[in-house]
Amino acid sequence: MGTVYDVLIVGAGPAGMTAAIYAVRANMKVLLLDRLSPGGQMINTNEIENYTGAGKLSGAELAVKMFEHVQSLGVEFDYKTVKKVTDEDALKVVVCEEDDAVYKARALIIATGTVPRRLGAPGEDKWVANGISWCAICDGAQYRSRDVVVIGGGNSAVEESLFLSEICNKVIVVTMLDLTADPKACEQLRACPNVDIYTYQDVLEFTGTDRLTGVSFRSTGADKTVRHVDCDGVFEYIGFQASSEIFVGLDISDKYGCIEVDSRMQTSKSGIFGAGDITAKHLRQIVTACSDGAIAANSAAAYVKKLSR
Ligand SMILES: Cc1cc2nc3c(=O)[nH]c(=O)nc-3n(C[C@H](O)[C@H](O)[C@H](O)COP(=O)(O)OP(=O)(O)OC[C@H]3O[C@@H](n4cnc5c(N)ncnc54)[C@H](O)[C@@H]3O)c2cc1C
Repeated sequence: MGTVYDVLIVGAGPAGMTAAIYAVRANMKVLLLDRLSPGGQMINTNEIENYTGAGKLSGAELAVKMFEHVQSLGVEFDYKTVKKVTDEDALKVVVCEEDDAVYKARALIIATGTVPRRLGAPGEDKWVANGISWCAICDGAQYRSRDVVVIGGGNSAVEESLFLSEICNKVIVVTMLDLTADPKACEQLRACPNVDIYTYQDVLEFTGTDRLTGVSFRSTGADKTVRHVDCDGVFEYIGFQASSEIFVGLDISDKYGCIEVDSRMQTSKSGIFGAGDITAKHLRQIVTACSDGAIAANSAAAYVKKLSR
């Protein structure tokens, strides 16, 4: 039958890595899979200042620290994109895109997080990854001393606009509502001399010929004023969608694609657990993802031990 793991974890963000640490310390045979480098969304985060005990550090630094911790405990890790998960009662079966590789485990923890939501405005598809980005820390340096538009007004939009304001000539923030981020961060952004903020706007179109050159938007107020701003790049921060494609057949998610779990991170399918941003929850942060991962691993280990009794 080949190797059967006790606990297989899909997703090596903070939730999956913490789950791996707790599961291996509970004497489980653990496999951790991720399609990308371990770290999840932390890798795209410029500065983290709210992870207890860590002070101020970059997301990449925290990702490396967490993965070193995981490796120091001997957790098996592999780069794989999981395409399907099936529940065959006693065994959970995971199929990967790479060579249709199949892994089996007694318990499964899904920690696949979320991906950035797209606006869907005309012209967007043409400039994806070639003018439009979802990660200022990854792509911001390309726009040093140039003009960029940031779309969105929540925490990510405001934090990343502040980051971009330090390297770009001008940052133009366009948001559907008012700024809704932490008041302190909004205050800082409003005080930046090279930041213009347009609230209550609908984005109409991304324009350009051989490269992206501008964005048009219209006021949602009574005047319906249409504006066009020139820019060299756009950063979209309008929320995220659940990375739920691998478990659609399992019937464990809500209408938004998020996994519904109980206080032990157990889904409606026994032996399948969810952790981190992919679960239906109120606060999506590193510290809450880690907490979910610890609880999911503890529950998965208890489940596996019960199976073998
Ligand atoms: C710009 C930005 C700034 C942020 N700033 C902060 C902050 O300052 N403080 C804070 O606490 N939080 C912050 N967050 C939120 C925080 O990063 C997330 O809450 C946290 O990373 C969620 O962890 P997770 O492990 O649940 O998911 P993720 O970090 O999203 O990790 C999920 C992992 O699953 C993998 N995966 C997905 N699908 C598959 C598949 N099919 N096969 C294999 N692997 C798969 C992905 O590659 C990814 O590595 C920020 C987020 C963003 C976007």
